Amino acid sequence: MLEKDGKSDSWKKTLKFISNCPVCKTEYKPEAVKLLNNENNTQSHLGQDESRFVHFTCHNCKTNFMAMVMMISKGISTVGMITDLNFSDVERLYKMPPLTVDELIEARQFINSKNFKL
Ligand SMILES: [Zn+2]
Repeated sequence: MLEKDGKSDSWKKTLKFISNCPVCKTEYKPEAVKLLNNENNTQSHLGQDESRFVHFTCHNCKTNFMAMVMMISKGISTVGMITDLNFSDVERLYKMPPLTVDELIEARQFINSKNFKL
């Protein structure tokens, strides 16, 4: 996590961490980065924190990478992962409601059933 130092380059430092593809190390082109338009922007329980999803597609190896950039009271933090979701998948799935406990139980029962085949 980066300390919030009041300087405007905090964002640039954060983006530096994710400026290269984690798979092939190629530097991302500017058009590889897309910010997810989250209308219902998540505010934490503290009310002052903010988080944004960014999606990257490597032009070299076509790997997709997603990161959540969180601006919290103590600075900026990121959590990222390699994904097989392209940007339109992310946009579509992001708008879906969260899974319920019942749905998770049902999915587990289905996967563990004798009839489940891939
Ligand atoms: Zn790559």
